[in-house]
Amino acid sequence: MIITIDGPSGVGKSTVTKALAARLGFEFLDTGAMYRAVALAMQRSGVSLDDFAAVESALSGMRIEMPPGRVLLNGEDVTALIRSPEVSQGASKVAVIPAVRHFLAAEQRRIAEGRDIVCEGRDQGTFVFPNAERKFFLTADSRVRAERRANELKAKGQDVSVEQVLAEQTERDHRDAERDLAPMVPAQDAIPVDTTHLSIAEVIEQLESHIRR
Ligand code: C5P
Repeated sequence: MIITIDGPSGVGKSTVTKALAARLGFEFLDTGAMYRAVALAMQRSGVSLDDFAAVESALSGMRIEMPPGRVLLNGEDVTALIRSPEVSQGASKVAVIPAVRHFLAAEQRRIAEGRDIVCEGRDQGTFVFPNAERKFFLTADSRVRAERRANELKAKGQDVSVEQVLAEQTERDHRDAERDLAPMVPAQDAIPVDTTHLSIAEVIEQLESHIRR
């Protein structure tokens, strides 16, 4: 069984996905981490993200593995390295390139094949798994999302202002929503959940009760 959770950055998808998967005894897949790994690989090899052909040819031979909670790029553990602001922006830039999306969508389908899994991202319910058994689309007020993200970063020792997070988030949301292939939109059969006034525990509760129903 495949469950998809899509929505914009900072909406709490990762936390909710992991907790929901644990409650259901499912595996989980953070597809944003895969876009991040591609962006890191491009930045390291000096490929310009505006040069779609160069990015496409750099994909050949690239190996991304997703053991639970970790990301391996050609065998190297890059789990922590892909969380920088530069990689966040890079990820949303490589995500507009059709060759990257097709490459990662194929990987995501291969990983999910025959599994009970919760997949989170921007296009899981629309493009990658249109036949998923249950789909959710999480939203939240953009300032609330930015505040949550700034608090997360603060907890990790990175002191960034809410305004700065909001500006970067708005730029990424815009790119995600406006791209031609697999833009970030709710699937027609996705259940929308506005998390603005909900705690993480309440979101998990709502999603789990929809699934068990
Ligand atoms: O979710 P996360 O912030 O880690 O995703 C990083 C970027 O990867 C997003 O801003 C988005 O551009 C891209 N992405 C995507 N499709 C997905 C997951 C992430 O385009 N399924």
